[in-house]
Amino acid sequence: MNSDLEALLKAAHYAARQHKDQKRKGANAEPYIVHPLEVAKLLSTIGGVDDPDVLIAAILHDTIEDTDASENDIAKIFGERVCSIVMEVTDDKSLPKQRRKELQEEHAPHLSHEAKQLKMCDKISNISDIVSNPPADWDLERKLEYVEWGERVFAGLRGANGKLEKHFDELVERAKRDLI
Ligand code: ZN
Repeated sequence: MNSDLEALLKAAHYAARQHKDQKRKGANAEPYIVHPLEVAKLLSTIGGVDDPDVLIAAILHDTIEDTDASENDIAKIFGERVCSIVMEVTDDKSLPKQRRKELQEEHAPHLSHEAKQLKMCDKISNISDIVSNPPADWDLERKLEYVEWGERVFAGLRGANGKLEKHFDELVERAKRDLI
């Protein structure tokens, strides 16, 4: 087996372990690992991305933000390039939630090409979840607000991958139609 595939499987195993006790916030409470795997799959199947470091970073993208994995752990196990892409899409959890959401909008245009594509797939995955399997206690207004915030972040990512942009635009159009 080549070393790229080995590294990809190592990342999937590592992320599954790190997220093992977490569930997605949707009403069906899927295991959290479904989300980072979906982000990597979207990058590959819709975005046509075949850079192994970007796909590995996608699988690991929430490990530093949401688990006890440190920046140093990711750099040591998966290398500096993967780690730097993950760090670009990692929110600072010491900040209040509203500020973190504003910062995502402010940072989006300044991300690297790799991180922009990853972030596009993160937004696609999260918005599809809010539409198809929303948290039980979210009303329509909260869902729409979430989609609109996602659109604002996504606007700052445009130019990085036309296929992902087209997929996002169709998703948002469908989302708004289905929600209202
Ligand atoms: Zn994510």
